[in-house]
Amino acid sequence: MKQYDVIIIGSGIAALQLANKLTKDLNVMILTKENLTKGNSYLAQGGVAAAVAPGDDAYLHYLDTMEAGAHHNDAKAVLEMTKKAPGLINGLWQSGCRFDEDEHGNLLLGMEGAHSEKRIVHSGGDETGRHIVEFLISDLPSNIIVEQSTSVYDLILNQEKTRCIGVKAKLPDRTNELYLAQHVVLATGGCGQIYSFTSNAETASGDGIALAYRAGAELADMEFIQFHPTLLYLDGKTRGLISEAVRGEGAVLVTEEGKRIMEGIHPLKDLAPRHIVSQTIYDYSRRGIQIYLDIASIKDFRSRFPTVSKLCRKQGIEMETGLIPVVPGSHFIMGGVKTDLQGRTSIQGLYAIGEAACTGIHGANRLASNSLLEGMFVGGNLAEWINNHRSEILTSDNLHIPVQNFFDGELPELDMLKQTMMDRTGIVRTREKLTLQAEWLAQFQYEQWLDAALDHLSQEQLTRLYMYIIATLVTQSALERTESRGGHYREDFPYEDNANWVKKQIIHQRKNGKDGKHELNQTALAT
Ligand SMILES: Cc1cc2nc3c(=O)[nH]c(=O)nc-3n(C[C@H](O)[C@H](O)[C@H](O)COP(=O)(O)OP(=O)(O)OC[C@H]3O[C@@H](n4cnc5c(N)ncnc54)[C@H](O)[C@@H]3O)c2cc1C
Repeated sequence: MKQYDVIIIGSGIAALQLANKLTKDLNVMILTKENLTKGNSYLAQGGVAAAVAPGDDAYLHYLDTMEAGAHHNDAKAVLEMTKKAPGLINGLWQSGCRFDEDEHGNLLLGMEGAHSEKRIVHSGGDETGRHIVEFLISDLPSNIIVEQSTSVYDLILNQEKTRCIGVKAKLPDRTNELYLAQHVVLATGGCGQIYSFTSNAETASGDGIALAYRAGAELADMEFIQFHPTLLYLDGKTRGLISEAVRGEGAVLVTEEGKRIMEGIHPLKDLAPRHIVSQTIYDYSRRGIQIYLDIASIKDFRSRFPTVSKLCRKQGIEMETGLIPVVPGSHFIMGGVKTDLQGRTSIQGLYAIGEAACTGIHGANRLASNSLLEGMFVGGNLAEWINNHRSEILTSDNLHIPVQNFFDGELPELDMLKQTMMDRTGIVRTREKLTLQAEWLAQFQYEQWLDAALDHLSQEQLTRLYMYIIATLVTQSALERTESRGGHYREDFPYEDNANWVKKQIIHQRKNGKDGKHELNQTALAT
């Protein structure tokens, strides 16, 4: 058994920002399930949003974020993040992280969907995530210990179940290890892998959200999934993301005959909010019509978008035709473990940051390039909070590991889970399809799994279990929200229902070991 001041689970942007900002006298362990760079942060293409241009203003960034989030956002949280964004970018820039600049040393800024100004700071063209992650890794101080290929599979609470005191993890040799800490931080990212079409890394199976739920933490907004409109689509499979910045630079969505599909749909046309663009493409694909991204008007495409060009080349797409076949797929979850802006969850000693968390910043739909920013913002806030809240090291005498039930039930087969989630809890939802999915999921003895001991399960079984828990929570919440808002679109309730739903979050929390104690929280989000 090992003891630390802080355990950080994951090594994406949120985890690395936190690790870099903690004071050097703290004993910190990063546990990450693959290598340090595996995760969504490394894949991020477009960049980081911040009102750094002379004519821009944090308030405009705030307004765009609220608009994209369909005003489901926590307004105070958005205000605070958008105000801090320029300082966060400048801090990173001045400490040596290279962003793309013009010949006078000014930041080059990109445009993305639903932003009213050019405010996307990028690095290496469309390799922003890789550059920031590599910079933050190179900057990690020596008090940070890293264990790679180490997957956290359960949280340890105190006897009263009021405080998180550690984690259980599977080591590379497949043995189990206990780690104790004063502060346990979930920085495990999102859950895009629960869908058959996704832009997400394989690591994004919702582990941290499922762990927190099993432990009794509050979750919020699980119905809000963002589907990215443009994933490269070949032979029935998605092959990676075509960044929104490509449309920002002038690419347009067309049919094979060249008809522009976003004309007359939204005033921002191809740069309309993501759920509107996704739904429009999905409507065409439901009718068997392939949609393409027409990049012919973009000059120097290869140097401006090296990652996209590499991806297309690898998949044998002839870019000379100017047409890239696309479909929408899962990209980001706005919900997650409910936290404040310091990353504190409803369980003492347990924190969540980055995509695993729900701070309320993204509302019902995330504005492009706001998630790297949120990871940096809340990761930094949590570091400050931990630095100022030292407590005594736990001793193993305090440790009481509850006995869990042995359970050896069946888990859903992954391909089936992903396909049914895409078909029934996907971009366009109805009560009928959601009920079908809820019933299909219920046959796998959900409640038993929530209390089961996990020590004997393989990594593959654990991943299936987390994805099963997340799929159930997303489906339940999607059934319950009888309106359309942001990333949640109900064909049977196609409009926002502000009389009944504005600012209300669906909260899931296990109480007294029982699942399904979910409720509406009417006051959670500041107006
Ligand atoms: C292709 C793509 C492009 C994107 N482009 C942009 C963009 O341009 N701008 C933007 O703002 N956002 C973008 N996003 C979204 C953004 O990248 C993510 O929301 C963000 O990086 C999440 O950061 P994170 O630190 O929370 O999680 P991640 O970067 O996903 O890191 C999660 C970490 O947790 C680890 N982990 C997970 N489970 C466990 C476990 N059980 N035990 C141990 N470790 C575990 C993973 O291995 C990983 O290290 C993009 C996303 C994708 C997929």
